[in-house]
This record gives sequence, C-alpha cells and structure tokens, in this order.
Amino acid sequence: MTLLDIKDLSVFYGKTRALFDCSFSVDEGEFVALLGANGAGKTTLLRAVSGLLPFKGSVSYAGKGLDTISAQTRLALGVAHIPQGRGTFTEFTVEENLSLGATIVASRSQAKEDKERWYETFPRLRERRNQLAGNLSGGEQQMLAVARALMSRPKLLMCDEPSLGLAPSITQEILAIFKSLNKEAGMTLLVVEQNVDITLQYADRAFVIEAGQIVASGAASDLIGNEDIKKSYLGVA
Ligand code: ATP
Repeated sequence: MTLLDIKDLSVFYGKTRALFDCSFSVDEGEFVALLGANGAGKTTLLRAVSGLLPFKGSVSYAGKGLDTISAQTRLALGVAHIPQGRGTFTEFTVEENLSLGATIVASRSQAKEDKERWYETFPRLRERRNQLAGNLSGGEQQMLAVARALMSRPKLLMCDEPSLGLAPSITQEILAIFKSLNKEAGMTLLVVEQNVDITLQYADRAFVIEAGQIVASGAASDLIGNEDIKKSYLGVA
C-alpha cells in the first residue's frame, strides 16, 4: 500500500523555484533514500511534506491530502521529520528532550514505556539521560534526535542528512538502527542523504534529485553500482 504519494510537487521561495513537479511514492514498510548533491532540493522536499513549507501539487499520506493539514496534525498522524542539524534542545537534558518528543495524546505511562523502549535501542542515551543535549557528541545528538522523533510514534520517519558531520562508522550505526526499525517495527523510512554509497547499503529503493527535479530512481541494489548516475547527478568523482 502506498503511504506517501507525491505528485507534481513544486515549491517556491518567493520567485525562486526550488522544486519542479516532483513525483514519487513510498510504500508502507519501505526504506527509501532521497539522494542529491548540495542545493538539489532535498531539505525543501522534506519540509513541504512535514508542513513547514507551502507547496503546489499534491502530497497525500495514507490516502489523505496533506496540503490543508497543519504540521502539528501531520505529526499526530504519524509523519515525523528529523531536521538537518538534529534540532535537539541543547539546554535540556536527554530525558527532557525525549519527554518533549512524546505526542500530546500520549499518557505519562505511555511516554515512560516509550522512553524505556528507546533507551534499549540507544543505550548511550540511557547512560547520558541527565546530561544536557548540548554536551553530547555529534553521533549521540543524532541518536537523540532519532529517539525524540520516535517518541511521537511515527509511521513515516523522515530524516534529513543523518550523516552530516559524523564519522562513517557512526553513520553506519544510525542507518543500521533505521534498518532495524524498518524490518522489525515495520516503520516506513524516507532518508535524505548526499552520502550515496553508505545509504544505498541500507535502503530498498532510492530517488535522485537534481536542481529540483527527480532525475533517476531504482532499487538500491541496482543504483549501488551505477557510476553514471553518481557522476552525473551526485557529484561523486
Ligand atoms: P543541502 O544538502 O545543501 O541541504 P538540499 O538538497 O537540501 O541541499 P535545499 O536546501 O532544499 O537543498 O535547497 C534547494 C534550493 O532552494 C537551493 O537552490 C537553495 O539555495 C534554495 N533555498 C533553500 N532555502 C531557501 C530559502 N529560505 N530562500 C530562498 N532559497 C532557498
């Protein structure tokens, strides 16, 4: 079943057009990567889906058009967005950040149960639960951003460039967690990345965006060896 269906999506910043009639869909339970070089439009696309930017065209989630639905309601419907640069509250502790991620409707006991669950997945966050988020390493902050998003019990988890500023081994660790959320919890993933080779090891399918347009797509296993696509669109030598 299609969970996210994007048709002819266009986004303008004033008179500047950042996305040109982008169309693609993500099925329930898929792990999809959106790949593209700097400035291709990846962040813009995620922000349009999560309700942070107005758009033209249509974006539907679980069969429901999102254009008139607020960002907060989209989150309540199960659309979570981990922004580039993590977006954790640096002056709050790890535990407080997780509490802030719990859905408004979650009871205290549900939130407590969810925290325990995500502390199991991210044991380093449990060890640092009383530390300020701003004092964590880059990798730990990315893990906190993921765990905080998970507190909203998403069905569609979108993550903007998890690898940014992280060592390859930490990026692998985070992508492996996404893969297990996908395989074991059936969560649908849409991950934006420039780091093509690492991401394609984990995703099922990928779309390539260049200058605001979707220019290529395919099974991750096919794209992994496609040097032409990498050279033409992704700035990989
Ligand atoms: P990066 O990997 O560098 O974050 P990206 O693929 O996420 O790149 P976007 O940030 O979506 O790309 O930017 C797409 C285009 O829109 C770029 O040309 C960018 O300069 C432009 N753009 C982004 N934000 C704004 C803004 N607030 N005002 C005007 N133009 C913008």
